[in-house]
Amino acid sequence: MLQDMAFGHLENEFKSISATGEDLVLCFHEEKVLLRRDADDALTLPTLSRIAVGQASDAVRYLFRIQGKNYFLWTDTAPDYDSDGFGYEPVRQLRQLKSKHVCFAVMTGWHLYNWYRVNRFCGCCGAPTEHAKKERALHCANCGNMIFPRINPAVIIAVTDGDRLLLSKYAGRAYTRYALLAGYTEIGETIEQTVQREVMEEVGLRVKNLRYYKSQPWGVDGNVLMGFFCDVDGCDTIRIDEKELSMAAWYSRDAMPAHDDGISLTREMIRIFEEGKEPK
Ligand SMILES: [Zn+2]
Repeated sequence: MLQDMAFGHLENEFKSISATGEDLVLCFHEEKVLLRRDADDALTLPTLSRIAVGQASDAVRYLFRIQGKNYFLWTDTAPDYDSDGFGYEPVRQLRQLKSKHVCFAVMTGWHLYNWYRVNRFCGCCGAPTEHAKKERALHCANCGNMIFPRINPAVIIAVTDGDRLLLSKYAGRAYTRYALLAGYTEIGETIEQTVQREVMEEVGLRVKNLRYYKSQPWGVDGNVLMGFFCDVDGCDTIRIDEKELSMAAWYSRDAMPAHDDGISLTREMIRIFEEGKEPK
């Protein structure tokens, strides 16, 4: 999946540092990001020196470091930049295996950008918030409210029945390919209860023997996804929630209609099942 990066680890400890000209900058505008798509489909982000010509370089905020490169968020008006092949591309459509580190940086930067953007004012008293000095947080000097980065927990669920896996498709969404069941954790429930509730709501099945597989941050939606395998418990007749799903059906291990895309945890879990390597 996207986060299994040969290029190394995300260094995300909070730092309050200034940018230099060679640091990379994430500029977002209307769900798009400024980058260049090269002839071989590789993606390149702009450096500060490329976009800050004639503008103050303090219009950036340090985000994180990947593979020895610092990434900053552009916080000023989005630069109007369309030379040297750079232009704005939709954040949600960046799934280039060739530039996994760029896709990951954009997705993670987008998550932080959105969090900063929707917390410019205190939700308690309405005063403007300030950036905390020692950690990634926003502070209201008027009422003392502290706002920490928000991450939504969600589950990806591979329901199995021996050599069969339950695949589904979402209803009314742009993503029309096969998926596993998924849903957000509600306040007050455990992650395991989320799995059982979502499966019952979406396909009307009871499940048992929950096995945690792995997790994936999914910054475009502000989520962290937790992947579980589980077994159907009793009746295997599917009753779909038509508001959530357009279809759901059992597929045999030797005839999977979807394959790993190297990006999503969902697709990796489908491959793991196809190879018989799911946790038992
Ligand atoms: Zn306040």
